[in-house]
Amino acid sequence: LLAPDDLAAIRGDGIFEAALLRDDQIRALDLHLERFANSARLLDLAGSCHEIWRPALLRAVELARVPDGDGVIRWFLSRGREGTDTPHGWILIGDVPQAALDERANGIAAVTLTRGLPAGMPAEAPWLLIGAKTLSYAVALAANRFARARGAGDAIYTTTDGFVLEAPRSNVIIACGNTLLTPDPSLGLLHGTTQQFIFERAAAQGWDCRYARLRLNDLFQADGVWLVSSIRTSVRVHHLNGTELPIADGLDDAMKMLLA
Ligand code: PLP
Repeated sequence: LLAPDDLAAIRGDGIFEAALLRDDQIRALDLHLERFANSARLLDLAGSCHEIWRPALLRAVELARVPDGDGVIRWFLSRGREGTDTPHGWILIGDVPQAALDERANGIAAVTLTRGLPAGMPAEAPWLLIGAKTLSYAVALAANRFARARGAGDAIYTTTDGFVLEAPRSNVIIACGNTLLTPDPSLGLLHGTTQQFIFERAAAQGWDCRYARLRLNDLFQADGVWLVSSIRTSVRVHHLNGTELPIADGLDDAMKMLLA
């Protein structure tokens, strides 16, 4: 399936998507396909079009033994074998990791880590591929290890000028009264499908949903803070940098209901 000199394996030169499989449906498939095509554009990579991937993904779900409860479907596009310039794609279906199920149930402690860049780098330095979901996740995994070494479950990146960005594999959403806020993707983060899914549903239920430039203090003063992603769904942040984050009554259930 994967040649030893595939550029995905030896350079991380490719893109992917990971979506939630629930009741044999791929959640937010259109948003994922849109982002996949956008990632491909940023990497100048052929072979990402909806016409190829939508039927392939639906067929994969049909053929696979989809696990009971939630599952995960991931699809990958690499630049192919070294020197060939022939893109290569594949699909994997599996279970939601136990760790994600535990985080959904129990929440998580987070610590802030600098991403080492000021706000606004996607426009200034597009070669950093900040808005693309690339296969190069070594930095994300390292950030998670650094967070764990500090006794937390995950990191939240900040810019060098003090804005909140995202977690290495999730977006940040906070609630303040009747408003849901998330860091604006133009600050330098991956635009999440789960965050967009939540905002769409929440807006329909009367929440005011906004992209914003959040600082750390906004998280400490919020009524609730969550990390959201396709696989985690929503995970409440109960401690930030060692300080407890209280949550308003029923608010975590309200967030879970938005994703039910
Ligand atoms: N930000 C980063 C860096 C991610 O890797 C991910 C997902 O893996 C997310 C945010 C959340 O994106 P989504 O909700 O589409 O899973």
